[in-house]
Amino acid sequence: MKVIDLINKNKKTAFSYEILPPLKGTGIDKIYQAIEDLKEFDPQYINITTHRSEYVYKDLGNGLFQRDKLRRRPGTVAVAAAIQNKYNIKVVPHLLCSGFTREETEYVLLDLQFLGITDLLVLRGDKAKHESVFTPEENGYRHAIELQEQINQFNKGIFVDGSEMKVTATPFSYGVACYPERHEEAPNLDSDIYWLRQKVEAGAEYAVTQLFYDNKKYVEFVEKVRKEGIDIPIIPGIKPFKRLAHLSMLPKTFRTDLPEELTKEVLKCKTDKEVQQVGIEWCVAQCKELMAYGVPSIHFYSVAAVDSIREIAKIIY
Ligand code: FAD
Repeated sequence: MKVIDLINKNKKTAFSYEILPPLKGTGIDKIYQAIEDLKEFDPQYINITTHRSEYVYKDLGNGLFQRDKLRRRPGTVAVAAAIQNKYNIKVVPHLLCSGFTREETEYVLLDLQFLGITDLLVLRGDKAKHESVFTPEENGYRHAIELQEQINQFNKGIFVDGSEMKVTATPFSYGVACYPERHEEAPNLDSDIYWLRQKVEAGAEYAVTQLFYDNKKYVEFVEKVRKEGIDIPIIPGIKPFKRLAHLSMLPKTFRTDLPEELTKEVLKCKTDKEVQQVGIEWCVAQCKELMAYGVPSIHFYSVAAVDSIREIAKIIY
């Protein structure tokens, strides 16, 4: 069953979350532990993020630096397959333009097809850390919609060089990203919604939002996209607030406004343990309100927050 079917068949709000592949050399056990911790809440699917390679500079000690290309978190496809095999839970690897050529993407699609993994989240991906603006790979893509087009062609049995597959298999289905508070590069929300609509017309079956803390922003966004004729599920992406440092990090990294009420409560806290409790309470209230609004699914960003999500899920599911 595809993600969209799982969401549609679920009578209650579906539970899903995103995990990151382990840092190179740290092993997969932490991921299995996170899945064990959240298993009882019946996740309908688990997303696995993808991370492009970055340049790192090694000081050679003689006034020279050596530039190396490094992927800190490789292994998305393998982690997805390992989870699917071990837990029989649907997995949704992220597919990126960022850092990948068309041919590399094609090999990833072939690997996924052989593994029977046919749900994807299709994204442009973050820019490289050394870039001020996103730069596609030579023979890569600038926008998620171009990647969608490659997948659509692949689904029809056509490779990037125009040659045809001898055997076709289950087509890939996919969702895309959306931004209730506008993507950082969009000149305005209308423009962002215009491109979301193009992504839907190109085949996106649902969209997952960037994290947000103010439900009003989500509801206004959903109403706006509905007016534009976009009728796919808009799945709220939620991350429990956890540390005092999040006060500056979250708005800067994810372009989200923190509501004054949340900020005031966080500023009263003396320790991160207290902040975590405030974050849990905020998130429970936020999720309950979203459920009452009728969201089909809530997607949790779990990085460094599995313990909070467990507490939240115990209350809301
Ligand atoms: P796009 O859809 O390409 O949109 C990027 C910008 O360009 C937007 O401003 C849009 O309005 C505009 N635009 C879109 N199409 C066009 C077009 N054809 N012509 C002109 N303008 C256009 N990053 C990672 O590196 N790895 C991950 O695993 C990852 N997972 C994510 C999961 C979710 C749910 C979300 C919300 C984000 C995730 N990101 C991830 C971050 C994401 O890759 C970045 O936010 C990226 O900058 C934009 O990705 P996109 O797919 O929305 O891009």
